Amino acid sequence: MDKKHIAFMGYNEGICTFLKGDIAIAAFMMDDGRRLWKPGDILKTEKIFRDSADYLEKEAGKRGIDLHIDTKFISVKVASLQSAASADDKREWKDSAMNFVGAESINEFVSKKKDEWKASQVAVIFLFPFEGRPYSMAASVGTLKEEYAVLYRADIHSVCHELLHLFGAMDFYFPESVKNAAMCLGSSIMREADSMVIDPLTEYIIGWRAGITREGEEFLKATCRISQEQIFKARRDEMKNGYGSKKYPDGTYTGSLKNGIPFGSGVFRHKKGDVYDGEWRDGKYDGFGIYRSQKGFVYKGGMKNGRFHGRGELLYSNGCRYIGEFQNGVKSGAGRMEYEGGTVYEGQMTDDKCGPTGKCMYANGTVYIGGWKDSRPQGSGVMEYENGVRDDGEWESGVFVSGIRTYPGGREEIIEKELSAGRRKKVQRA
Ligand SMILES: [Zn+2]
Repeated sequence: MDKKHIAFMGYNEGICTFLKGDIAIAAFMMDDGRRLWKPGDILKTEKIFRDSADYLEKEAGKRGIDLHIDTKFISVKVASLQSAASADDKREWKDSAMNFVGAESINEFVSKKKDEWKASQVAVIFLFPFEGRPYSMAASVGTLKEEYAVLYRADIHSVCHELLHLFGAMDFYFPESVKNAAMCLGSSIMREADSMVIDPLTEYIIGWRAGITREGEEFLKATCRISQEQIFKARRDEMKNGYGSKKYPDGTYTGSLKNGIPFGSGVFRHKKGDVYDGEWRDGKYDGFGIYRSQKGFVYKGGMKNGRFHGRGELLYSNGCRYIGEFQNGVKSGAGRMEYEGGTVYEGQMTDDKCGPTGKCMYANGTVYIGGWKDSRPQGSGVMEYENGVRDDGEWESGVFVSGIRTYPGGREEIIEKELSAGRRKKVQRA
């Protein structure tokens, strides 16, 4: 093992070395009086940490490793968290937090707590009650290496991922050279936002495996020329720009980021199962995209400001299909609607409904051309029925109210508005 290799930057060193034995997590719940943890948030976060610990303990157990993780939540009130989610964060909140718990530094806090909590190692995690991108830091303070992770509205993947970082694991999703080389390791929690697999090289780094596997060697060989400086630089860039993953309360984004916000192309996986794969701008769907809903519909087409917009195609699970224009999330403009039974409407759409003008070819052969409102004939229009009868005149909510009715053979009948109800009965007999 070459200590200079980027994969071993954190191997067996710092506050946290190998992920085994009795581990305590010091979870600092950061609060500045304005940004608060709601009671529900705290319960949810506690459950996420418990589930994360259970997951890692179980995974360790499968490999014959004894692991027990205990999380201690510490509520911390500091003056301001203002900069904590931004790129220019000076981490003043960190010193304030240590001040709050009466410690000089993270390392001093950890060595005090180790005895009190009877833990062989203490992992430090700061939690913030707002949106941001999780990360882990390992910084040299004097002769000691200070380590901690930062999480915003935690979920199991990010708790496990960041915790593994504290125990030496490296990211496999950037830069591109590392990402490609890590393909040989298979699925990995350190590579994909939706994987919980602890790959064989990560297993080795965190002390769960005695030797490096063939795949691990392959990765090490492929990345041996990449320097730590290159990784640090790529990480700094990647944190704000470029490819990355970002968690939201309703799902996970993986794709390109600009200043930490989805921008360019990327995939959003909603927790409920919906998936958007396409272009983004300022954190919203914008450009071309494909939206697959858990409910069964699939949209392909233009997006703007997070909504269907421009030209698109909407395919429903029942077989209905719409091809045409959208505006701010609704069918609006010229379009073609194909219904499940075979009826086809072609014309203008307004607020998801057919109208004000269009042509409809009903499945039974009847054709209507003319005015529409709320998906029904309205205004002037001509209906040619499958039986040869033709109604040319005025329509109200789909009913022929006045005009000329022509029968096959040429006989004409004038329909007047006030008589229309009676006349309609006559038509049915005809
Ligand atoms: Zn990471």
